[in-house]
Amino acid sequence: MSPSPQSNSNRDGKLVFPAHPTIPFIEGDGVGPEIMRSAQQVVNATVAKAYNGARSIEWLEVYAGKKAEELTGSPLPDDTLAAFKKYHVGLKGPLNTPVGEGARSLNVAMRRELDLFANLRPVKYYPPAPSPLLHPERVNAVLFRENTEDVYAGVEFEAGSSGAKSLLDYLKTTSPENFARIRFPDSSALGLKPISREGSERIVRTAIQYALENQRKSVTLLHKGNIMKFTEGGFMKWGYALAESEFSDQIYSMRQYKKICAEKGESVGNQDLQAAKAQGKLIIKDMIVDAAFERAIAHPEDMDVLVTTNLNGDYLSDALAALVGGLGIAPGANINFANGDAIFEAVHGTAPDIAGKDMANPCSLILSSVLMLRYIGWTEAGDLIERSLGQVIAGRNVTPDFACQMENATQCTTSQFTSLLIQRI
Ligand code: ATP
Repeated sequence: MSPSPQSNSNRDGKLVFPAHPTIPFIEGDGVGPEIMRSAQQVVNATVAKAYNGARSIEWLEVYAGKKAEELTGSPLPDDTLAAFKKYHVGLKGPLNTPVGEGARSLNVAMRRELDLFANLRPVKYYPPAPSPLLHPERVNAVLFRENTEDVYAGVEFEAGSSGAKSLLDYLKTTSPENFARIRFPDSSALGLKPISREGSERIVRTAIQYALENQRKSVTLLHKGNIMKFTEGGFMKWGYALAESEFSDQIYSMRQYKKICAEKGESVGNQDLQAAKAQGKLIIKDMIVDAAFERAIAHPEDMDVLVTTNLNGDYLSDALAALVGGLGIAPGANINFANGDAIFEAVHGTAPDIAGKDMANPCSLILSSVLMLRYIGWTEAGDLIERSLGQVIAGRNVTPDFACQMENATQCTTSQFTSLLIQRI
């Protein structure tokens, strides 16, 4: 492949995009084609309006999932990965994740192949979207989910398999106390999950840099270190250590504060009170992840920038999305903040139950496109889409997933919602 202007534009570790960049996209499975069509129409109309023709996107279709299998025989052709590497930034529809034996998730494979280690999931409320909360307008969180480790890079052994037997034998001889904890060894399947210092550091660094650049108040390290001391506990420990060494002038570490209290024999006061004492510095704190679920519902205003391991992040981001209307409005991005490569995609899956019915809410992929436009520096276009989308929802014109939970809503098809949004733009 000959180098594109984009592929040569990596300056000081930052990508600089031409006025007419090529952006590869994967249509996706299930509702993918419907929401991709909608997002592209909205982006094209907005870019034309915002820049009067001085900028435009050249969309390049690349294949993955069912369409790729039909066209090339492979669900994830090498050319697709090559296109994302070449052009650095792309947009992706949801891909079918096979469940069970031997099947691998294409989403996970793409994130791993491109080392897109940060999964960015902002959660924001657009009134009057349906919400189970009394004050959904208080939700404004940004979740950074580690994307390359944990059970997603885990090793599993089926119950009774030779691998499971060997591992059990190994544990029995080398670590009898650990072996004794396994309640039913003969019928246990076993799993290993890797969580590394480097992997933890790079996602925590990214979250802190984001929080500082966007004038956020706190970064919370979410983990289950009370049960898994070395993996989840390691994530917290390495995260704090990185914050304290690389950002010492800009942050206020709750871990250090607690240490000082312990040395003085003083009790640790209310965390928020202490936080107020931090005098404008970014507060780094931690929370056991199950408590974070409770906190997000009872006190969503406490959820600011959150950073966590892969599986915790998967659970929590869907729960946070439910607070602001559900998966139909949850955008996401997978980014390698070291080399700039990024793929923007909806948080939800292929939604096979509504595929092909012109019913899907396209907001998730449209807002993912907003993240993409801002990422390439086209903030005017991103802001215009977000503002207009908020206005269409405020006018109670919504797709069925919202309409069935709202009073006085006008139910729209995906195409009608898209047309209304484009008119508004
Ligand atoms: P997959 O196997 O691809 O993960 P799934 O159905 O298990 O598919 P999702 O696609 O995330 O998981 O869907 C979960 C639920 O949310 C479904 O009922 C689906 O209809 C609904 N949903 C997901 N995305 C949207 C959307 N864009 N608009 C409306 N409803 C959606």
